[in-house]
Amino acid sequence: MEKLRREDIKHNLAVIKINRSYKEGMSSLELYDVTRGCWKRRLESVKAAEYVLAVVFGVVKEVYEVYRWVSAEELNRETIPFDAEKEKGRIGFIGEVADNTVREIYFGKSVADFYMQGEAGTVKVILAKEKILYCRVGWMNAYRGSATEKPQGGGKYNIDNIGHEVYNYLGYNSRYYGFVEPGLYNGQTKNIDVDKLGGDKQSKSAENVLVVWLATKPGQGQYIVGWYEDATVYHGLRKVPEDAMSLRELKDHDCYNIYSELAFLVDPDQRTFRVEGMGHSGVWYGNPDVNTKVIDYIKNYSNDYEERIEAVDKNLDSIVGVERDAIVKIRVNQDKFRDGLLKKYHSKCCLCGVDDNSLLVASHIKPWAKSDEHEKLDPANGLLLCPNHDKLFDGGYITFAEDGRIIISERLSSNSRIFMNVRTEMEIEVDEENSEYIKYHRNKIFQ
Ligand SMILES: [Zn+2]
Repeated sequence: MEKLRREDIKHNLAVIKINRSYKEGMSSLELYDVTRGCWKRRLESVKAAEYVLAVVFGVVKEVYEVYRWVSAEELNRETIPFDAEKEKGRIGFIGEVADNTVREIYFGKSVADFYMQGEAGTVKVILAKEKILYCRVGWMNAYRGSATEKPQGGGKYNIDNIGHEVYNYLGYNSRYYGFVEPGLYNGQTKNIDVDKLGGDKQSKSAENVLVVWLATKPGQGQYIVGWYEDATVYHGLRKVPEDAMSLRELKDHDCYNIYSELAFLVDPDQRTFRVEGMGHSGVWYGNPDVNTKVIDYIKNYSNDYEERIEAVDKNLDSIVGVERDAIVKIRVNQDKFRDGLLKKYHSKCCLCGVDDNSLLVASHIKPWAKSDEHEKLDPANGLLLCPNHDKLFDGGYITFAEDGRIIISERLSSNSRIFMNVRTEMEIEVDEENSEYIKYHRNKIFQ
């Protein structure tokens, strides 16, 4: 399958995942209608997109030119009746199939690399020319509200206090709030200059920004620790919504100035990309030279990672060739099973995106003890999960419907759902190969 490369993108695009509603053999009108609505995004956050890619399991099935982004009420879809309650506050677009010159750039290509595994975000805006904001924060290994670490460096505030960036990367309702201290002026927090990011004067915010998080490794230089894609950046600080505050122990850490549905944190030992040229301020708008290198690094990051895993695969093959000892064979086979899953799920929990390699569990869908020799090693019989989600899946507290949507047991209290990070909009990709295993789990393990 030919991959769409970042440099092929010549237009501002909205990439829309329609895995759930796509059906083989649907008419072009039906395809148009399921693609154009109704999505949970703010109108301002998508209006830059001139074309829409309809994507099914990573592949572009159609390309539309957008005439207008509108509220759900204005969509008038011929093949889908309007549901005022369900579509309240949602948006969509009016347009038509793109001209061939544009369509052939994108049609039939794979855009799987543009997504991170397990991300629930259905609509993602990709601009032809990226807008970048560099944000310097304190160094942490985990962020996500870690109770055992505090941010190192990243401004005077962090010397005696715990900076608000401790809650960066903590996902709630598929949103990641982010905090950066733009710097102080007369003891007051400065604002982010959203004009420089093509922002809107009235709303004092900028949309579709690539936010690159930088931190100084203690005693060393300043490195990229991760990024938020397609982010919204605010001029001033805003209050974190109350429901998202339920995950925060430090209740005075209640403000943010950035949010996104697509967050990527680099493993601490892989943070090797150094960024120079930033002044004393906590935020920087970059320069063309640095931006080009950074975008290149980010777009190639996932590819590099796959290559490294392939190298590990090859080593294991050579071990299998000479190893005769049965115990070692089992271990090698288990490693192969795990490596297969690491590769398939890009080394992330397929539900929440946890990407710490040492924590990820290769979980059998049909339990190992109940599986035959083939099933024990079949990668289709596995999910890559973080310890929490593995426990829940193993214990039958969660399972998946035919279309991949999560099904949550009533045994799991609403409190546990929050703390174990289980949300109704989570889904996995069910394909021909794993659907029988999932069915087994749904019927025999789920309670
Ligand atoms: Zn997880």
